[in-house]
Parts: sequence; structure tokens; C-alpha cells
Amino acid sequence: MNSITSQSLTTLVKNIKNKKLSSQEVTKAFIERSEKSKDLNAYITEDYANALSKAKKFDQNPNFDLKIPGIPIAVKDLFCTYNVKTTAGSKILSNFVPTYESTVTQNIWNEGGILLGKLNCDEFAMGSSNETSFFGNVKNPIDKDLVPGGSSGGSAAAISGHLTPITIGTDTGGSIRQPASFTGTVGLKPTYGSCSRYGIVAFASSLDQAGPMAQSVEDCALLQEIISTYDPKDSTSIDFKRNSLSKELTREIKGKKIGIPKEYRVDGMPVEIEKLWQKGIEYAKDCGAEIIDISLPHTKYALPTYYIVAPAEASSNLARYDGVKYGFRSKGENLIDMYEKTRSDGFGEEVQRRIIIGTYVLSSGYYDAYYLKAQKVRKLIKNDFDHAYKKVDAIITPSTPSSAFKIGEKTNDPVSMYLNDIFTVPVNLAGLPAISIPAGHDTKGYPLGLQIIGKAFQEQELLNIAYALEEKINFKNKVNDWWIK
Ligand code: GLN
Repeated sequence: MNSITSQSLTTLVKNIKNKKLSSQEVTKAFIERSEKSKDLNAYITEDYANALSKAKKFDQNPNFDLKIPGIPIAVKDLFCTYNVKTTAGSKILSNFVPTYESTVTQNIWNEGGILLGKLNCDEFAMGSSNETSFFGNVKNPIDKDLVPGGSSGGSAAAISGHLTPITIGTDTGGSIRQPASFTGTVGLKPTYGSCSRYGIVAFASSLDQAGPMAQSVEDCALLQEIISTYDPKDSTSIDFKRNSLSKELTREIKGKKIGIPKEYRVDGMPVEIEKLWQKGIEYAKDCGAEIIDISLPHTKYALPTYYIVAPAEASSNLARYDGVKYGFRSKGENLIDMYEKTRSDGFGEEVQRRIIIGTYVLSSGYYDAYYLKAQKVRKLIKNDFDHAYKKVDAIITPSTPSSAFKIGEKTNDPVSMYLNDIFTVPVNLAGLPAISIPAGHDTKGYPLGLQIIGKAFQEQELLNIAYALEEKINFKNKVNDWWIK
């Protein structure tokens, strides 16, 4: 690997600030590597020429006070980027060019970031394997036969394969943490309301949250600090005191109380996952943390609750794609026929499945039995966490119930695909922050992640615990560049 693309974000920032590297050198290096990485199918849209001209402009008139001066960054194709195609991995948006910029990406450009391109993802962020994308599946840099996880599969592959120094994904039920776990990288899902949803293609509005994906906790902290701002353009954005996360990062976590929820010991969980969890607990003890057994009794209802709430919100959010306002349109004999054909041709199978489920659970006669009931259970799940956080500062669990699975292995079995989210969805339902850090390998050498769940708006504490554990774990990713010819 090129000596530039192997550097962490933090090192690249230092090198640019010290003038050891120019923005053009860094940008060129990541473009070259991305161009050699077509086999991964991580990009939907490349914006290399613009990236190079922005890098040149930066070098001519550099501003080293910025947090990520002249750093090239590829982002998930769910973030609207002004004048750059934004597809959400869907045919229905395959020709959509936004006239506005998402707040999160704007925050990145304001601090000196340069757009490299748009990364592949599951269609409308619905999926756990990046196989529902209209633009084809993404391959895992760990092994060509493996999925990279989803829905932020392109983002995870781009980080793990060193195609971008840092990236952002979105997490509605696990889409940052699960792919991070599958690719041996770090992914943070922030507290709901911490990062603006303005300009992010909506999936399930009460659950969606943007967050950083990186090689390390330190890099994650720096990007989170940049993207988390109060935004009046998002009515659910929250104005709270935000820490300088990267500056305040510390491994001093002595005396912190870490909860271990017994309900996460699910039937049929591979021994490797159990062992990894145990290892995480030992490391936390080594860091001086106190381990406390806790109970989150409604955990088993989280997955069914999520798969009512998320499709319900999706069916409503996706009603806007009618062939009139956005992108793709099929020809029809009359207006209704045009609507029907556009939506049948424009949405993939998984998205149509979710729209049907969502419309069903919201329909009169079923609304009380499903949607309303799910909202009540959601509250109970949140109450479980509130109760636990009276005793502990954070919670540690595995990120996923297995390591990355094979491409095609679960495509015909949606329920087994949904089971992937078993450890991640409770966090979204409760609106909490959580991070996945790579913590070990299974017998096949595939990475496994540990999830740390924090208290609402306590990203600093969460990152500190992850930072301390990361050092103890000392994980080395096994990426052998198989896709580079
Ligand atoms: N895999 C989950 C789903 O398919 C979560 C997706 C996400 O977080 N965007 O809904």
C-alpha cells in the first residue's frame, strides 16, 4: 500500500499542517488507490476531477486552522451533495442531482474536507449486506466472497480498503456498526438529535442518524466533533453543549461502571462471539472499569418492534417518489398507471417489501394492533436503558451475532438477514449513542466487533471507553489487497 493511503486521518492532518504533504499529494494517492479498487464496487459516483481541482485550490491558498485541511473524503450516497448525483442506491433516484447540500457534509467541507465521491449502499439504506443496491453489491476487502455488511457497505469497504481516510455512514438499525464490525473498522452511531438529518435521504426519520466510520477511535472522535452541530433546519436536532471530542479524548476510565446485559446472550450465538465478549469484559477490567451485571428485559422485542416502526416510517417517507418530483419515471397510460409503473420499476424488491409491511401496519384496523403497540414497546425498551443507566455508565455487548457472511448466503431469507441487527436495533429505538470497535478474529480470520453503548449525549465518555479498550485490544486488520491487480 502507498505510504500515504496507509496513514490515519489524524496523521494525514498533521502531515498537511506541517507541510510534509500537500492536499494534492494526498488526494492523488487516494484517487489512484480508488481507481485500482473497482473490484470492490465501493463507489457509485466518482468525483475525482473536482476533488483534484479543489485540492489544487487549497494548496494555492491553504488554511491550516481548519480541522481537516485539504483532506479528501468519500461519503455514503445517502447524503445529498450539491450538484453531485445522489442515488441512495436506488434506480428511482439514479439521475437525481440535488440543488442543496446536507448539513453533515457541509460541516465537513467547512472544515477543509474535499469530496472524493459517493459510496455504495443498500437501497434507501435498507439491508445488512449491501446486496440491495441498484448499483450492485460491494465486496468485503477482507475476502472477496464476503459481504461488507450494510447498509453502509461501500463506506465500510472504503475505510477497510483504504480508499478514503475517513467516511460517514447512516445508522437506522445498525448500518454503521454492523459493517464496521464486518470489515474490522470503527463506526459510531451518535445520539439521536446530535447530527442533523437535513439533506439525508430519509429512511425511518425517528431512527436515522449520521455518524463517522474510521480506522481508529481517535479519527472517529475528530469527525464526530465536526459533523455534530445544532441545526435549525432539522426539527429533531438538539442544542446541547458539544465537547471538543478529539481534544478531550482520554484513556483514563478507571472506576467507570460497565454493564453486561444478560439478555444479549442469545440462543445459538457462536462460541467465538461469546469469547470475544468475555475478552472485552477482561480488557475493560484491565483498564480499571468495574463490571456490573444488568438486565434489559425487553431486548427480545426490539427486533420485531424495529421491523414495524422502521417500515411504517419508510412507507410514509417513500411516498414522495412518484415519478413527478424526483428522478426516474416510467411511461404510463394515465397518471395512476404512471405512478404504479414508476414505483414498481424504480424500487427494488427489499424496498417494496418494506413499503408493503409499512403500509399494512399503518392501515386502519391494524394500526392499533401493530404500529401503536410497537411504539409502546419502544418506550419499554428505552425505559430498560434508563433504568440500567442509574447503575452503570456504559454497556458492552457484541456488535453482531456472527462475522461477515458470504455474498448471496442470506438474500433469499429476509428474516435471517434481519436477525443480523439483533444487537444494534435496541440502541436506535432508545436513541442512544453506540460505537463498534474491532476486537478480534474468528477461526476463519474474519473480524469481530464489540459494541459499547453510552448514555444519551455522552459521546465523550463513550469514545473514551472505546479509546481505552482499543489500546488494550491492539487489533490488526487482515487486509491483503486481493482486489488490486
Ligand atoms: N439492517 C437494518 C435494516 O435493514 C438497518 C439498516 C440501517 O441501519 N440503515 O433496516
